[in-house]
Amino acid sequence: MLTVNRRSYRPPAVPTVVVCVDGCEPDYLSQAVYRGRMPWLKRTLAEGTGLIAECVVPSFTNPNNVSIVTGAAPSVHGICGNYLYDPASGSEVMMNDPKWLTAPSILAALADAGHKIAVVTAKDKLRRLLGHGMRGICFSSEKAHEATREVNGIDDVLSLVGLPLPDVYSAALSEFVFAAAVRLMRRERPDVMYLSTTDYVQHKHAPGTPEADAFCAMMDRYLGELDALGCVIALTADHGMNSKVGLDGSPDVIYLQEWFDQQLGAGRARVILPITDPYVVHHGALGSFATVYLSPATPAAEVIGPLQRLAGMETVLARDAAAERFELPSARIGDVVCVSARSTVIGTSPARHDLSGLDAPLRSHGGVSEQRVPLIVNRRLAGVDSTRRLRNFDAFDLALNRAQ
Ligand code: ZN
Ligand code: ZN
Repeated sequence: MLTVNRRSYRPPAVPTVVVCVDGCEPDYLSQAVYRGRMPWLKRTLAEGTGLIAECVVPSFTNPNNVSIVTGAAPSVHGICGNYLYDPASGSEVMMNDPKWLTAPSILAALADAGHKIAVVTAKDKLRRLLGHGMRGICFSSEKAHEATREVNGIDDVLSLVGLPLPDVYSAALSEFVFAAAVRLMRRERPDVMYLSTTDYVQHKHAPGTPEADAFCAMMDRYLGELDALGCVIALTADHGMNSKVGLDGSPDVIYLQEWFDQQLGAGRARVILPITDPYVVHHGALGSFATVYLSPATPAAEVIGPLQRLAGMETVLARDAAAERFELPSARIGDVVCVSARSTVIGTSPARHDLSGLDAPLRSHGGVSEQRVPLIVNRRLAGVDSTRRLRNFDAFDLALNRAQ
């Protein structure tokens, strides 16, 4: 037994693959299975285990991927957004530097125990966080052509996979992850593999659309191949995805910095959108979660009531209440946390969001409304209590402790 972040894991008896499908609202799978586009999943749901779990709020990519590989909430691992305001330096910084991690990963612990580990991500921003402290193979589709034995534990990835280097804004970026996984499983046979895709397709296409179904069908083919190679597979998602538009199809946005500047005057509050990252074309940095740093002259209690009454706002909490409810590191979340409702996103001010890249009605995530995610294992599980609140970060527990 291996203990990581106060949870125990059995070493893998057969190759074990945990897959995080970015933005995989459960309905994507339901629709594709219904139309016969996911034969592997249909069989797996009948013969294995199909559950619904909850992801971490903010329902963003980095906090959830790190939760899955640490088996813990952000209050333990420290990553509570893609983006963070660092009051110490007075600057806004990306949280994809491993220096923000406050817990080790299950992957690193398995590697230390002598198991062969492989991690494949779509975007390179996640690779450094997920591979931190881990010996083994770890590369991204985005930078597959730059992988070296020294840094990534493998080189010549393009000829291993046999596909051209994909564009960072494409469905092919995710397909490359699965194709690499099948080739790796055949050639290297890692004991444990972690795969993480990108939600490019899910930001543009609703469940049941031809593009979404084609993505699910692609995934199903590769998962079937991994299954045929004898792998235990646990599939989950970092978060769901919802349409975030008004009746006219334009984004339904609460411009929160503008609201503070109008209500209190400029300089009294700084709104941080933790969805922000270098790749914002497909969502314009609009998500359903924001944190606010207030000037010392502005007590949180004074603004929470008025914020809560804004149309489209779902939950507004002061720092400590938010840290407790969402299991977040309280030193990294600001004085007030705002979560918008299912169809609404939060922005700063109109001039700071470039929506010119949006070529479809906005779909995004970040809120409690995107917390439902699939948790699927291709084995019938022993002893999963139906009253247990399942989380996406139980994926390794189910795959290692209950599926083999
Ligand atoms: Zn994501
Ligand atoms: Zn996204």
